[in-house]
Amino acid sequence: MREVLVRYIGRFAPSPTGPLHAGSLVAALASWLDARTHDGQWLVRIEDVDTPRCIAGTDQLILQQLATCGLLPDAPVIWQSQRGDAYQAALDALVAKGWAYPCGCSRKEIEDAQALMGHARERHTAAVYPGTCRDGLNGKAARAWRLNVQRVIDDLQLTTPLTWQDRLLGLQQQDVAKDVGDFVLRRADGLWAYQLAVVVDDAAQGITHIVRGADLTDNTA
Ligand code: GLU
Repeated sequence: MREVLVRYIGRFAPSPTGPLHAGSLVAALASWLDARTHDGQWLVRIEDVDTPRCIAGTDQLILQQLATCGLLPDAPVIWQSQRGDAYQAALDALVAKGWAYPCGCSRKEIEDAQALMGHARERHTAAVYPGTCRDGLNGKAARAWRLNVQRVIDDLQLTTPLTWQDRLLGLQQQDVAKDVGDFVLRRADGLWAYQLAVVVDDAAQGITHIVRGADLTDNTA
């Protein structure tokens, strides 16, 4: 007998940076199959917050490609580019709790501070933010907004490292404070960070299960 969950809402959340390719189609099909297996709902969300990387028209192309494959969403598609108010409300709530703060550092300043602390940056990874603006801007102008990871962990009394169960990869863990640091919620160019938008939207859409590319494992915590 197959397991039937009382409630399952899954989603496929492509970034419209080009047409669907084999890898993104695997994520689409896998998330659709998982939703169908659980008698659940399958939603589609166009993740177009990183506007410089988006290619006009590829959102509609992706939706057409999905439809051609018989992958039809169970509710109207949402576009992240239209959800700025929800992201601003989430940031305001984080600021009110003392969990988010403005940062005036440039990428170069962050890398220099890291180098001074003797932390070499690994290839292809963002430098872990050294926390320079955590207790105030020291006269610098605010550029980006960051999450105060340690304060969230302390206030919510979370056990570290954070753990979660991945049905394919097994038990996963990440020490977010040490390995990721105070990540950006709103970028210096005013664009919303994927890490904020994806959480706000998964919560707003009531997503219960996520099937995504394994390349996002290190962003899941
Ligand atoms: N928009 C992301 C991507 O295309 C996927 C986000 C997610 O599944 O959480 O890589």
